[in-house]
Amino acid sequence: MEFEFWWLLGFPLFFAFGWLAARVDIKQLITESRALPLSYFKGLNFLLNEQPDKAIEAFIEVVKVDPQTIELHFALGSLFRRRGEVERAIRMHENLLDRPDLAPEQKMTALYELAQDYLKAGLLDRAEELFGKLQGTQYEQQGFKFLLEIFEQEKDWKKAIETSRKMDSISGQSSAKDIAHFYCELAAVELTHSRWDQARDYLSEALSVNRRCARANILLGDAEMGQGRPQAAIEYWKALEGQNPAYISLVAEKLLAAHRSLGREDEGLQLLRGYLANNPSLDLLNVIFQGELDTHGADHAYRLVRDELARNPTLLGLDKLLEAQLLEAPAERRHELQLIKNLVHQHTRSLALYRCESCGFKARQFYWHCPACNGWETYPPRRTEEKEFAG
Ligand SMILES: [Zn+2]
Repeated sequence: MEFEFWWLLGFPLFFAFGWLAARVDIKQLITESRALPLSYFKGLNFLLNEQPDKAIEAFIEVVKVDPQTIELHFALGSLFRRRGEVERAIRMHENLLDRPDLAPEQKMTALYELAQDYLKAGLLDRAEELFGKLQGTQYEQQGFKFLLEIFEQEKDWKKAIETSRKMDSISGQSSAKDIAHFYCELAAVELTHSRWDQARDYLSEALSVNRRCARANILLGDAEMGQGRPQAAIEYWKALEGQNPAYISLVAEKLLAAHRSLGREDEGLQLLRGYLANNPSLDLLNVIFQGELDTHGADHAYRLVRDELARNPTLLGLDKLLEAQLLEAPAERRHELQLIKNLVHQHTRSLALYRCESCGFKARQFYWHCPACNGWETYPPRRTEEKEFAG
């Protein structure tokens, strides 16, 4: 009896507590959701339905109604920049920077974002100034990377060297290879103005930073040639063998011309043949082929390519062999040979390219600085088919 009484009393109490608890929760929920403007939910809804344009409009409403949403400002700003709406991104980040209630860390983030907007808009001076202000902050390292990008675009190689050195001192990594190229860029400018001594100074800097910098030796040879000293030029280019023999193919034509200017064409051809024996290279083969053709005639040229093809069978070599055969072919066979050559040539066009090892960008021309990924010395001086054969 006693038990039933308590049961009767306890049942409604239990419900009363439950009801009260539920009410508190609902009330809390309503207060929280009231704090977020309706546009926020609209924006989320648009995002979920993959309607980013409408979502952005809705989020802009949120930002207008509730200026406290600083994180949303940042998200919208970088979204605008990524979509190429740079002016909108700039306005968003400039407005943020004007706010007096911004915490110092958020201010740095806004500066970093704005600097990237300026860079994307091509306002390099302003970008440079802002990235410079990030030194000593959490964005210092990224800032240096962007600064380097700017200096490379502006071809301000001295500032590029300075920035790379600062980066190295922070990261503990080495940009020696890149720095050597910046010195080579400086030297190349001096060479075009026939300022040989200045060029040589920069090139010896390049080699002191990276003694394996083949480009520096190539340019040192150019400086000697520019001053009418082919023998000295030959010595610099021959030194490439000790640095990286693959790069000899880039100077093969100049090497032969230097020998020719000294009346020692045969010696030059012999030297190049020696390099070819150790480093099969289509560019090298082309130069020797032309040299043999000019000096000793079609028969010599044909034999050279035939032997090379037997040793190193590539489609590019076959293409060259057919070219050599055509030179000597009797009139009745010429048509047929031409047809075969055209077929092979069509096929080899895609193989006779240089390929960036860092990003895979392929080009007919050799680059020291990849136009696609901005890497330095990322192109091996070999055509793609040869690379595949070389493994
Ligand atoms: Zn690349």
